Amino acid sequence: MKLVLATRNHGKVAELRRILDGIDVIGLDEFPDAPDVPETELTFEGNALLKARAIAAHTGLPSVADDSGLCVDALNGMPGVFSARWSGRHGDDQANLDLLLGQLSDVAPEHRGARFVCVAAIAWPSGEEDAVEGLMDGCVVDAPRGTNGFGYDPIFVAEGESRTTAEMPPDEKDAISHRGKAFRALAELLR
Ligand code: IMP
Repeated sequence: MKLVLATRNHGKVAELRRILDGIDVIGLDEFPDAPDVPETELTFEGNALLKARAIAAHTGLPSVADDSGLCVDALNGMPGVFSARWSGRHGDDQANLDLLLGQLSDVAPEHRGARFVCVAAIAWPSGEEDAVEGLMDGCVVDAPRGTNGFGYDPIFVAEGESRTTAEMPPDEKDAISHRGKAFRALAELLR
């Protein structure tokens, strides 16, 4: 069975390939003309389904897409689906992280709870679709630490951990991460 993962990120393709043992996972590199699907919905599930549907329609193959972000309690769940563009510039990880730290500068440690959320959606060429969610609970610390990962990793500490996710080796993060959990739930669903 062949499955498309709606991303040009090789790390994500490799991670899903490891988890979906026995399934031929291919990325969008093999479909240079695939559309860039804007994330216009207000939920992770809505955005993941938008992308999965568009790529299934383009490729004629079952397609998986994920959408993820950081939901901060003190900000009523924001940045959420706006995580990648919180500072107003899409993909500027440093500006997004700096803005979030500033917004939380006066928030007491006991109120700095947050969670990473990932929804993985699958769309079949027949029109059927499904979505699964993975969560990683934790909190936002007051200063960046670590150089692994991306995005908000240097300021996030998962529950039961003392290291930020940017201080954890990638395989340890994968084992507890929102994306790892969502991809494993998808593997379960496909079984
Ligand atoms: P997307 O799911 O690729 O649209 O990513 C959404 C944004 O959420 C990223 O640009 C990051 O800012 C943030 N994000 C999602 N997952 C992680 C993670 O595992 N670590 C750090 N930041 C993340």
